[in-house]
Amino acid sequence: MRLGAHQSVAGGVHNAIKLALADECEAVQLFVKSPNRWSAPALQQDEIEKFISIGAEFGCENITAHAAYLINLASPKDDVAEKSIVCLTDELLRCNTLKIPFHVLHPGSHLDTGFDAGVERIIAGIDEIYGSNDISTMLLLEITAGMGSSIGGKFEHLEAIIESTTNGDKLGVCLDTCHLYASGYDLVNDYEKVIGEAHARFGDKLKVCHLNDSKGGVGEHKDRHELLGKGSIGLETFKMLVNDSRLQGVLGILETPNERYIDEIRLLKSLRG
Ligand SMILES: [Zn+2]
Ligand SMILES: [Zn+2]
Repeated sequence: MRLGAHQSVAGGVHNAIKLALADECEAVQLFVKSPNRWSAPALQQDEIEKFISIGAEFGCENITAHAAYLINLASPKDDVAEKSIVCLTDELLRCNTLKIPFHVLHPGSHLDTGFDAGVERIIAGIDEIYGSNDISTMLLLEITAGMGSSIGGKFEHLEAIIESTTNGDKLGVCLDTCHLYASGYDLVNDYEKVIGEAHARFGDKLKVCHLNDSKGGVGEHKDRHELLGKGSIGLETFKMLVNDSRLQGVLGILETPNERYIDEIRLLKSLRG
């Protein structure tokens, strides 16, 4: 596993990689525009050039973006669904320009209109975006904490989407240890069953794993990230993850409540071997 963290893009997208290097990261995640807005000014040419140059040094394959939280491809409201498609298209085109290979997306919420209808809207949205744009960046569907009518709390949900789009080759998977645990996958007592199943279902579509401890218990559906070793998951599980040969090459990204990540990166590296 390549170890890294989500880093700020204040002052320009290339700054995320500078922070990653300062924090001794081997991988990095960043937003390609504000995560709380539908639209943003276009990237400037000099910003693009700086990012591509420092990104090539860092290794493009070690970079992933994360989509805006507003996006909900499963929304039954036409205006939200349409804005989500426009926003996600813009973000994927930014990733493509910046040569970022992966973009992590929360699949969406059907808002009490039923799982099947929600999944259908997600599939239609993904097919519209990839069908009408030339995008190489892969879209990684993230496992969620399984709250309310959110889609993605089970491996089967992600699989249903991947299998039914005509752009399955452009889709991958992002696991999140906190979300998995919150959704009922007991990584602490059943590590082999959970990771074995994820590997069997997704294989090399598994590209990113968010490394977060959890404030809530197993199956409590609480998306509350905790510092590594301070939550209900604990360091033993993270030790198994960083040493798991099935996850070799996967980007392991911290999204823990930290200002800077160097201490937790060093902690994770100390668990290796
Ligand atoms: Zn996420
Ligand atoms: Zn989360």
